[in-house]
Amino acid sequence: MINLTLTEALAKLRAREITATDLTRAYLDRIEKFGAELNCYITVTAERALADAAESDRRYAAGNPRPLEGIPIGMKDLFATKGVRTTAASKMLENFIPEYESAVSQRLADAGCVMLGKVNLDEFAMGGMSKTSFFGTPVNPYQRDKKLTAGGSSGGSTAAVAGGLALCATGTDTGGSIRFPSSITGLVGMKPTYGVCSRYGCIAFASSLDHPGPIARSASDAALMLSAMAGCEPRESTSAARADDIAKSLAEPLAPLPLSGIKIGIVKEFNDVEVSNDVKTAQQKHIENLRAGGAEIIEVSIPHILNALAVYYIIAPAEASSNLARYDGMRYGLRVPGSDLIDTYKKTRAAGFGDEVKRRLIIGTAVLSSESYDAYFMQAARVRRLIDDGWRAAFEKCDFIICPSSASTAIPIDSQMTPLDGYALDLFTVAMNLSGLPAASVPAALAVNGLPLGLQVVGRRFDDKRVLQLAKHIEQFANLDNRPTVIMGE
Ligand code: GLN
Repeated sequence: MINLTLTEALAKLRAREITATDLTRAYLDRIEKFGAELNCYITVTAERALADAAESDRRYAAGNPRPLEGIPIGMKDLFATKGVRTTAASKMLENFIPEYESAVSQRLADAGCVMLGKVNLDEFAMGGMSKTSFFGTPVNPYQRDKKLTAGGSSGGSTAAVAGGLALCATGTDTGGSIRFPSSITGLVGMKPTYGVCSRYGCIAFASSLDHPGPIARSASDAALMLSAMAGCEPRESTSAARADDIAKSLAEPLAPLPLSGIKIGIVKEFNDVEVSNDVKTAQQKHIENLRAGGAEIIEVSIPHILNALAVYYIIAPAEASSNLARYDGMRYGLRVPGSDLIDTYKKTRAAGFGDEVKRRLIIGTAVLSSESYDAYFMQAARVRRLIDDGWRAAFEKCDFIICPSSASTAIPIDSQMTPLDGYALDLFTVAMNLSGLPAASVPAALAVNGLPLGLQVVGRRFDDKRVLQLAKHIEQFANLDNRPTVIMGE
């Protein structure tokens, strides 16, 4: 049962060939069996899941199922869930039980999804391999004896979906955290246009860059999930008015995009970036295939795109230093009492945050200080604008851009890396966050080492549906078998 895609599972549930309870149980069994090994869950909510599944079955019986009735999902532990511990994978929030529900998790619940539990991530979503989690590192279900990374920061989400411990999962993408982990676990992960999925109740990392989005086994599944997650949220000022239309448009079955008349751009500046041969070959094959299908392929230039990493690693820490100032031990989260107020702040923050989070907070505080503000923060904001101009000019010449999602397949979790090596993992993904563009990573090939790798489809703002429709071509052509029992060998 766990090999079904979301689309297939829904069809079987609607035909009453399977029950939501059986489906949920199958996933809970799988969590029981592989949860510890893959370390993808921080909290499992089995009882609540079974109660929700029973409600789904009642609704099917009564003939009034909701759009995703009975679909078992993993929830990235960055989304606040009322009454269910929400940690952001940080010691700071180890025992935090929210009084409120995030917009995204509420929408998924309203669509009938069954939450299996809260999945692992990098602490406060800062990282690319989920190694900064206070709860240990998730393991890639592919070739699991090798203990490869499932990516990050949504590494618990990808490990869970690829391994069959959730049918699909939520992710968040501030600089690549949905697309990079999806790429190296053979999944479809989509960062929608900024504002399409509300950040309300999603624990903030960098507010101008944070994008909730779906992680699923196929483009059609991602579309259905996004349809449920998306929507205009009156409680959030950056929520997009057009989000409701996008949600509606994704609710229908996803057809591959007609290719004739479509122009696809390849970013010239990315050609100079070192990537593995597998990535090059995969991109080349798919380009030829899309051309054969009638698309026109052109080269476009985004002059400052290779500066996106430097810009991101100024803006993201700056916003983080401001957002994470609230963890002071006063209202919620950890408190380590000190001799006075300031000492309590110091002790609490020293004990509650891990090294990477502290590094970001120090960088962020430094670039916002009066001595550095113009030279770093303002300069980064200016270059961000130039990158945005570059995207705009490129999208006047083409409808979509295709580029790698990652430079290579999954690497071992214990690979020795400096923080800067880790930051470089985001080279192909951060520029889309700076401009809020919709971008999906879709499985493109199995590399010679047997590991999956993805390609990205990037579109104009609010062209989310067509991004997934184009991704569907790549998915069909690659024809990767990503059924969990095939990946895990059992
Ligand atoms: N790896 C990037 C970082 O560490 C992106 C993380 C994310 O998208 N949440 O900031």
